[in-house]
Amino acid sequence: MHEVALAQGIVDIVTAQSERDGFKHAKVVHIELGALANVMPEALVFGFQSASVGTAAEGARIEFIPRPGTGWCMDCSVEVEVPARVALCPKCGGVKWMVTGGEQLRVTELEVD
Ligand SMILES: [Zn+2]
Repeated sequence: MHEVALAQGIVDIVTAQSERDGFKHAKVVHIELGALANVMPEALVFGFQSASVGTAAEGARIEFIPRPGTGWCMDCSVEVEVPARVALCPKCGGVKWMVTGGEQLRVTELEVD
């Protein structure tokens, strides 16, 4: 479950930001999550809730901003949208594609008190 480590990283970001900006509590954490990031949102939220106890992130809600996965199909020579890492090219049904986007997990915005 690498979500626990990722959740800790998000709490660290919020904590660092609160020390820098002087806010007490984060209300909402906006996170951009790519379809190919291999992250289960529920597991991340669960990890976040336990990792944030006693920090400025405690009680904050996570808002996910989903981003599509994209890949370059070598047979079609086009970029296609793919739902998962193990998927077929939606155009030709082939497997010869490389990930080009959708692996991100990043905090894009904090709403604070
Ligand atoms: Zn293709």
